[in-house]
Amino acid sequence: MLGLMMQEPLRIAGLLEHAEKWHADTEIVSRLAEGGLHRYTYAGLGRRSRQLAHALARLGMQRGDRVGTLAWNTHRHLELYYGVSGSGAVCHTVNPRLFFEQLVYIINHAEDRLLFFDLTFLPLVEKLAPSCPKVESWVLMTDRAHMPETTTLPDLRCYEDLLATENAEYAWPYFDENTASSLCYTSGTTDQPKGVLYSHRSTLLHSYAASLPDCFNCSARDTVLPVVPMFHVNAWGIPYAAPLNGCKLVLPGPGLDAASLYELYETEGVTFTAGVPTIWFGLLTFMREKKLQFTTLRRMIVGGASCPPALLKAFDEELGVEIRHAWGMSETSPLGTVCTLKTQQLSLSPDEQFAIQTKQGRAIFGVDMQIVDDAGQPLPHDGVAFGDLLVRGPFIVAEYFRTLHPGELTASGWFRTGDVATIDPNGFMQITDRSKDVIKSGGEWISSIELENLAIGHPHIAEAAVIGVPHPKWSERPLLVVVRKPEATVTAEELLAFYDGKVARWWIPEAVEFVTELPHTATGKLLKTQLRKNFAGYQWP
Ligand code: ADP
Repeated sequence: MLGLMMQEPLRIAGLLEHAEKWHADTEIVSRLAEGGLHRYTYAGLGRRSRQLAHALARLGMQRGDRVGTLAWNTHRHLELYYGVSGSGAVCHTVNPRLFFEQLVYIINHAEDRLLFFDLTFLPLVEKLAPSCPKVESWVLMTDRAHMPETTTLPDLRCYEDLLATENAEYAWPYFDENTASSLCYTSGTTDQPKGVLYSHRSTLLHSYAASLPDCFNCSARDTVLPVVPMFHVNAWGIPYAAPLNGCKLVLPGPGLDAASLYELYETEGVTFTAGVPTIWFGLLTFMREKKLQFTTLRRMIVGGASCPPALLKAFDEELGVEIRHAWGMSETSPLGTVCTLKTQQLSLSPDEQFAIQTKQGRAIFGVDMQIVDDAGQPLPHDGVAFGDLLVRGPFIVAEYFRTLHPGELTASGWFRTGDVATIDPNGFMQITDRSKDVIKSGGEWISSIELENLAIGHPHIAEAAVIGVPHPKWSERPLLVVVRKPEATVTAEELLAFYDGKVARWWIPEAVEFVTELPHTATGKLLKTQLRKNFAGYQWP
């Protein structure tokens, strides 16, 4: 017997309709690529997204067509999120930090028909255009006054001109909630970029899950600033969760340096923010130097890479901000786990609580997870056993866009994340490595991430990586590769002694190498494949 409830499909346009009806006066503030701040409300976002939907139809966009964006976090990018997806096309956010060849690859692979971009990216787009013949028009997200006098682009249009003549009345269409809504390519830490094609349903379910108290804890009393870019996994879902909850939204545009962010936090009364560890390290250094404090900021999400305990502690103890460590990936929309304590942990000492908060956290509703051994057998949740992390749920990828990548799902339908993790008896998951970075010494696994976090906790170390290097006796041993802070003098012996008592003796790296910089991917993640190449043939001292 079926239930007797309305069959209202979950649609991204529904989020906007809700916000413009019930949070019409709530503000959206953006820093623009042209300079200056732009302010309007959810009512304004609704009007202009509808005008954009008309403009897209006039340009011939049909349901399912891909519309690319190369843009910062701004109100215009937000209008594209709603105007494109809301009208049934697919909003393909392109990550400008990718390498040139990767950009060409994904724009062509996605077959973007239009490409909207911010002024910052004009030189890049002029270089891309000859290699992207399927793009019919290029739209500069600015007003007439900022349009270039000359350009090599074949069909360059002005965003504000496109909208100006369009009607603000538009009925968002209804369609199957499984319709594709947006497309995001993984940054390719381990492979060519692969497209994850989200649906209206997966996006809406992820938005509900992201809003929950143990996740973002968003409400109509919050002012939210996503530092995480809208060109990378939909800014972790904040552009959808904010209108769902009626949050004031503050979009930092290209101003991602600590001083610009701090200014926005203070002037706009931001209460909640989200970004990667590198951004928070920059902000911490800036605030320490200037002896600053936050007036309104209370909660931040850190994710995308492991959060070193030193960062968590500094924000909590020096700045009074609760850091929530989160794990996820493009393939999980992206939230998979968030670390918040349960009642049972509240009686623990502050240090014991910190130790748990450094873990990647508990599964959010909508994500089930397990760890398995090499034979695919489930491992115990004892906080010790390491295994491949598998996930499944309604906002987890089932297959990549137009690519056959066999073996991504197990026979029973779990997605292989490529991460290796432990899960403790209370359900807290901890990433120990990417499966390709795992170090196996004498048949036992060693967590490179844990060793890196400890090294970063040393006051003289700016950045650290640990890789497995072949060893005659143990098959592999960990090598610590570090960048010292300017003028720091710490020696290899001192660094190794720093590990004493913090990890099992056999985990302590075999040797230390000092370098001036470490290799990174286009999105700033440690590129261990390159590092392993750099140290191929390494001779142990
Ligand atoms: P890519 O897979 O191309 O690097 P993503 O941005 O989707 O692109 O990265 C997801 C990966 O980032 C995860 O699989 C994981 O290895 C890593 N990651 C994300 N969050 C964390 C975290 N909190 N701690 C450790 N690693 C993380």
